[in-house]
Amino acid sequence: MYQVATSALEVNPLHILSEKFSINLKHLFQIREVTNIDHQKKIIEFGNDTLEYDYLVIASGAKTNYFGNEGLTISAMPMKSILESLDLRTMLLQNFEHALLINNERKKQGMLNVVIAGAGPTGVELAGALGELKRSVFPKDYPELALSKMNIFLVQIGDHVLPLL
Ligand SMILES: Cc1cc2nc3c(=O)[nH]c(=O)nc-3n(C[C@H](O)[C@H](O)[C@H](O)COP(=O)(O)OP(=O)(O)OC[C@H]3O[C@@H](n4cnc5c(N)ncnc54)[C@H](O)[C@@H]3O)c2cc1C
Repeated sequence: MYQVATSALEVNPLHILSEKFSINLKHLFQIREVTNIDHQKKIIEFGNDTLEYDYLVIASGAKTNYFGNEGLTISAMPMKSILESLDLRTMLLQNFEHALLINNERKKQGMLNVVIAGAGPTGVELAGALGELKRSVFPKDYPELALSKMNIFLVQIGDHVLPLL
């Protein structure tokens, strides 16, 4: 995800859906949305269809955890799916394009500041990949910008990064 977000991995949305990039699960499994589970009758419902089970494993994943920080839910861009990573990549590149055109120094600095909330493995990976971009890629792509002004802030509660949970 962090490689997609920072363009280190060139991802065309069509490739994501192709077997070249990932196994197309549709060839292996039926993909349906579980709409209800009846524990008493041991039945799963898929819209109008049902399926009986003996044992049921629920593995429906997790949503981005903002740790109760309302500001993050409004301002932050999550990175839990390929599409969200592509959104992040677009935002990063658009900010750099805008920074080229803006004369207002304060706004320009805002475009060049990246703040990552949370220094768990994903935040650390993302910060490292952005550092690589700043050092090796952006100087060639944006020679007009003073990249020393690009700041990557990794914000973490507590006293060290990569905390053990
Ligand atoms: C940016 C990022 C980087 C990561 N890097 C690593 C890493 O390097 N190494 C590592 O080990 N882990 C990594 N992880 C964590 C790893 O991706 C997750 O722990 C793992 O994907 C969780 O798998 P899961 O099957 O529990 O959930 P998911 O992968 O979220 O799968 C849940 C599935 O359930 C489906 N579903 C939900 N509701 C329903 C429903 N009602 N009916 C039918 N289907 C439903 C969803 O569509 C989804 O496909 C990373 C995660 C992120 C976000």
